[in-house]
Amino acid sequence: MLYKDAQSAEKRLHQSTSSIAKQSVWTSIAKLYRKVVINHPRSGYSDDALYYEAEIYLEIFRRFDDRAALIRALDSYLLLANGYPASRWARKARLSRGKLFLKPLSDRKSASIALRKVVSLWPNASEAAEARRLLNNLSRPKPAASESFPKGVVGVRNIRHWSDSKREYTRVVIDLDKDVKYRQGQLENPDRIYFDLIGTRVTQALASKSFPVEGDFLKQIRVGQNNPGVVRVVLDFKRISEYNVFWLPDPYRLVVDISGRKPRPQTLVADKTPRPAPPPRTTPTPRTTPMPGAEDTAALKLPPAPTRDGFSTARQLGLSVGRVLIDPGHGGRDPGTQSKKLQEKHLVLDISKRVAKLLEKDNFEVMMTRRSDVFIPLEERTAIANSKGADLFVSIHVNASRNSRPRGTETYFLNLTNDPAAAEVAARENATTTRRLSELNDLLQKVMNNSKITESRELATHVQNSMAGDLFSSPRDSRNRGVKKAPFYVLLGAQMPAVLVEVAYLSNRKDEALLANVAYRQKIAKSIAKGIRSYHETLGQTTTVTASGARIVAPQ
Ligand SMILES: [Zn+2]
Repeated sequence: MLYKDAQSAEKRLHQSTSSIAKQSVWTSIAKLYRKVVINHPRSGYSDDALYYEAEIYLEIFRRFDDRAALIRALDSYLLLANGYPASRWARKARLSRGKLFLKPLSDRKSASIALRKVVSLWPNASEAAEARRLLNNLSRPKPAASESFPKGVVGVRNIRHWSDSKREYTRVVIDLDKDVKYRQGQLENPDRIYFDLIGTRVTQALASKSFPVEGDFLKQIRVGQNNPGVVRVVLDFKRISEYNVFWLPDPYRLVVDISGRKPRPQTLVADKTPRPAPPPRTTPTPRTTPMPGAEDTAALKLPPAPTRDGFSTARQLGLSVGRVLIDPGHGGRDPGTQSKKLQEKHLVLDISKRVAKLLEKDNFEVMMTRRSDVFIPLEERTAIANSKGADLFVSIHVNASRNSRPRGTETYFLNLTNDPAAAEVAARENATTTRRLSELNDLLQKVMNNSKITESRELATHVQNSMAGDLFSSPRDSRNRGVKKAPFYVLLGAQMPAVLVEVAYLSNRKDEALLANVAYRQKIAKSIAKGIRSYHETLGQTTTVTASGARIVAPQ
């Protein structure tokens, strides 16, 4: 039969070095595959034949640099996707079209149309996740396109910063084309940090940009081409107590968190998480990427001491937990996960507003990272939490799975994970891949040493238990997916207890129906607010830490 003939011809081609070098042989096999489609369009082999035909034309394009073959491949994919929409190859074909329009064709408009089709047809497929990531990159304004550099030279594209001089906190983000080696150093009188980015060049747009700096903690940002291959970024401060540096990929950015005062000790629970030693304040030593680990010194936080007015610090801190930052995930050009009818960004904004209202009724001071449908980068959300001095940070999301079966609620705190399912959730929320995420592990470990893991786990437990209690008939209900850990970018560097809630699965039809229901969204909001309140109440207790690290909690 025809299909088998085409397959064995292709097999022979790969075994013969003389045939493999001849474009005409490749073309003849593509034509054999097409014959299957023409003669037996309903044979069940036709979709496979079209897929292999496209692959062969792509190979011709690559080997013989024949652009006409590339166009043929695009046509074969389209014929497959339109003619055989139920075929297992249909999603791959549409995704491949989108990618080819991106590269090598650089046709952004056609790419965007093709990729959006993947997202709308198969919102929960892994192909849709990839299409969304590519669409995100597409819609990102690209100064890169206007200024290109010779091969091997990495562009330094932009510098962004968020500051609060009252709290003496700044996050600076340097946008680059790629991760690079860098040297960092800290100098005194006046306090300043600098980064020498190796093998980089600053864009003209950035070189001529001025950085208006508000307040007097971060005084100035300077960027310049220190020598032909090195861009130097200098940050001038009033005074620095500690700082943290880490990379985020997709797209690459170097994130620097700087504190003047030590971040407030909100810790009420013995926290045995080792904290890294402060960076050396001496002459800089060259550093490479990833940064070498600083020697970790285990420091147990001390019990809160009584203050002058008779209240314990714990009590004071208990009161100060009143400022909550609610973070509705995604927004604007980033819809998050989607079903045919619903988009995560709208659902989580609605739920977040409801949570905010409920907490305000309880006299919490509530802030939100967004109140409308706007895009906010993940690293900015954490910067808002730190610079606004939030006491708790709660990011609200809707889950999705490749498989339509999983449903229910899970709450995350920041940590590394060995659980592939949790890593997949984090990768999706981070708009990156699980592979990239695991490459980052060493780096992330350092940042996490500085974060409030113990408190965040407690907060997650309160929120999850409250949700499970209110939404499901029994805590044993399989929809109670529990407290989990994973490296979410949005939680990285948060100086307060911080959690991410996945309220339900949009990829599950029953959960989707629930999410579409206003009363259910209010129920979710109520249970989240209740969980936050219940965590807050535990802080109104005095906590004593014994020498052995045991924890005694006594009500006030
Ligand atoms: Zn999300």
